[in-house]
Amino acid sequence: MNTEGVSLWQALGRNRKDRPALAETLGADLAIVGGGFSGLSTALHAAEKGLSVVVLEAETIAFGASGRNAGFVVPNFAKVDPDDLIARLGAERGERLIDFAAGSADLVFDLIRRHAIACEAEQNGWIQPAHSIAAFEKTKSRAGQWASRGRPAVVLDRHAMRFITGVKEYMGGWMDQSGGVLNPVEYARGLADAAEAAGARVFENSPVRSINRSKDSWTLATQHGALRAGKVVVATNAYGGALNSKLARTYFPLRVFQIATQPLPADIRERLLPGGQCVSDTRRNLFTFRFDAANRLISGGMHILGPGAEARVPRRIHRRLARHLDLKDIPPLEYSWSGTAAVEPDFLPHLVDLGPGLIAGFACNGRGIAMTTAMGKVLAEWACGADARDLPIPFGPPAPIPFHPLLRHAPNMLLFWSMLRDRLDARSAA
Ligand SMILES: Cc1cc2nc3c(=O)[nH]c(=O)nc-3n(C[C@H](O)[C@H](O)[C@H](O)COP(=O)(O)OP(=O)(O)OC[C@H]3O[C@@H](n4cnc5c(N)ncnc54)[C@H](O)[C@@H]3O)c2cc1C
Repeated sequence: MNTEGVSLWQALGRNRKDRPALAETLGADLAIVGGGFSGLSTALHAAEKGLSVVVLEAETIAFGASGRNAGFVVPNFAKVDPDDLIARLGAERGERLIDFAAGSADLVFDLIRRHAIACEAEQNGWIQPAHSIAAFEKTKSRAGQWASRGRPAVVLDRHAMRFITGVKEYMGGWMDQSGGVLNPVEYARGLADAAEAAGARVFENSPVRSINRSKDSWTLATQHGALRAGKVVVATNAYGGALNSKLARTYFPLRVFQIATQPLPADIRERLLPGGQCVSDTRRNLFTFRFDAANRLISGGMHILGPGAEARVPRRIHRRLARHLDLKDIPPLEYSWSGTAAVEPDFLPHLVDLGPGLIAGFACNGRGIAMTTAMGKVLAEWACGADARDLPIPFGPPAPIPFHPLLRHAPNMLLFWSMLRDRLDARSAA
């Protein structure tokens, strides 16, 4: 049973097009499992390079995290800064992955412009305010690391942060001006349309039940059809558990809740975030907000395990929104939903080698709109013959997380600890 509900974007989406289920036997150069940003960006880029491409989506386009996120376009990694990457991967591989991330938001907005995707997109910046003095120092260093690589990263002092966000409590922070906002469902639908216009075929309601090797190709079986392809990209993110249980043990499935209020009155709307950017602060228990095109306030958060989360967590996020934004008369909740993000133990994108010509891509880690789009471009290069070891994203065999059945809920279980540490930080900043 789907307990994740229907997102604001799925409920209000305008450009929905019915696509058939696979009901025949087809052949293609490239088969893609999953119709989220990862699969659709791969399809678009591979079809543009002249490959014959088929996408098989179990439900409908943007059913998974791609239709349930907040629409923040963020061109960097949560928790891993450029200097950390160089220390972990060495200068050459580190800089390649940094370049991959750095250009990822520009790629999203370029695709939107190039394919005229109507998705309420604005490249107006992603803002990370600091909730403590120590966090402000960290954001200054982070901004410096990106700026030294030519990225449009600017440090904002306390006054500038207050002016831009309308929120008093922050110590300062930084902004990457290449980030921005969009309507994720319309973006995904636009990618699907663009992929089809480039020659790809997209099937919905076609869950892949098995992927088997026969001679020099792969056969993907669905209930009423089959697809034979030389290469296969598995782009199922946290929704593909049943297809490959080994793959499902390589990431933490992080369930995240989102809410949208009724639209805000104009006078309050003008005080908060007049530039319409998106905000994710430095708390371990992340606080985020943005507005949609109708001036609904959108926020999200993780949940603490336990019964009744679907009703309890949205109310808690709503109260938190009112508290942090100093909104005594916050409009009532209009939409609440959740989604699941695949989080890698090292918070980096990964390409997983599942066999000759069979690869899985993970670039989510909770900040996936820009990263999965950029990963799709890289996967299209692989589909056209590039050696996976030469790509900017780390590539290797599946690396199952030890004690996964026990640890899979660790990020949610650690939330109490994160909240406690945030509170201590805030006390030392006061
Ligand atoms: C609540 C929430 C908020 C988020 N907010 C943001 C944000 O603001 N900014 C940001 O950058 N990132 C955000 N993210 C992360 C971002 O949404 C994801 O990184 C991104 O959508 C992942 O895209 P994907 O294509 O890899 O996976 P998904 O969009 O999850 O797509 C996987 C697809 O595979 C399909 N599938 C699974 N199994 C099969 C099968 N056997 N056969 C066929 N199809 C199958 C599923 O139905 C699904 O449609 C958020 C995530 C969540 C959950």
